[in-house]
Amino acid sequence: MKRCLVFLDGQALQDSIDLLEVARQIYPAQAYESTGITFGSETGPAEGAFDTIIQVRDDRIPSFDPMAVTEVLVELHQLRSFDTILVPATPFGRMVAPRLAMRLKTGLVADVTAISHEGGHLQAIRPAYSGRIMAAIEFVGEGPVMMSIRPGVFHWDRLAEKKTQTELFTPAQARTGTIRQLAVQAKEQTYDIRESDVLVSGGGGMIGHFHELERLAHCLGGQVSASRKIVDNGLAPRSIQVGQSGKTVSPTLYLALGINGAVQHVEGLKQVKHIISVNLDKNAPICSLSDLVVEGDAVTFIDKLVAKIKQQTSP
Ligand SMILES: Cc1cc2nc3c(=O)[nH]c(=O)nc-3n(C[C@H](O)[C@H](O)[C@H](O)COP(=O)(O)OP(=O)(O)OC[C@H]3O[C@@H](n4cnc5c(N)ncnc54)[C@H](O)[C@@H]3O)c2cc1C
Repeated sequence: MKRCLVFLDGQALQDSIDLLEVARQIYPAQAYESTGITFGSETGPAEGAFDTIIQVRDDRIPSFDPMAVTEVLVELHQLRSFDTILVPATPFGRMVAPRLAMRLKTGLVADVTAISHEGGHLQAIRPAYSGRIMAAIEFVGEGPVMMSIRPGVFHWDRLAEKKTQTELFTPAQARTGTIRQLAVQAKEQTYDIRESDVLVSGGGGMIGHFHELERLAHCLGGQVSASRKIVDNGLAPRSIQVGQSGKTVSPTLYLALGINGAVQHVEGLKQVKHIISVNLDKNAPICSLSDLVVEGDAVTFIDKLVAKIKQQTSP
């Protein structure tokens, strides 16, 4: 039976659990055992999802130090010989994954957004050259197969609860940290469009009116996102850009206002449940992907919808 290890980043537990979907796609017709490893953080929803959860609770190991964490993963791999190691491409995961691959003398495909099987070979797909091409990378050699996975792309459906076995792991050797944590300070509150259930997104048709989106997002309890056209015009930060060179989002509702639907934008919408687009041109590519198309001016649409919502919600 194949063995798959998933690194559970305590700061992004759900994104880490979603890597079970990657494991499923890697082994579509093969039995495999899933193991999650966490460093002291709560296992929460990972319980019932993995076959085994390994908890490392050891005061000698600073869980914020990617080098110390890497050494533990190396030791665990030496004991259990995993066939596949998956790491979420979170800020911390991006520090751990290349170090681990180097220590295990294996290759790493970073920031993977899709999995495929060609001619019996496993391939990892990732954007390359700032998203200009999608590269398919094949695994050769002994392995283990290692990938870091872009958060928000894969979603794992919990179809059945597993009887998760939890194990405590105390490494034989702990790397004495060369990093000291002096203080922990909460980052200034900003939102992450990947976590939003409703996104009100603006494109080229909203230039000059982009700030109007906030009113509608507020009424719908959602957040504002943008196409690259808006970002390139300096009207929104890159952190809220949807698409190939931005973020992959998975809201229940994506409202595309004045967005044409270029292939690079649509690349970020793979997991969206419902799309409503508002466009002057009903033949814009985004319209063919939408559940509902409103042909008309996006600003007028915002005015009318906000007024309607306020009317219906006022006592
Ligand atoms: C390597 C590479 C990576 C890229 N990555 C991304 C990416 O991550 N995300 C991304 O978005 N793009 C990306 N792009 C750019 C992409 O190709 C498009 O140029 C961009 O998405 C266009 O943005 P848009 O649809 O908002 O604007 P436009 O192309 O200008 O389209 C505007 C749309 O609004 C409509 N419209 C105009 N006025 C109104 C109005 N008053 N009311 C309603 N509708 C109106 C128009 O009919 C049109 O459909 C990338 C390009 C390259 C080359």
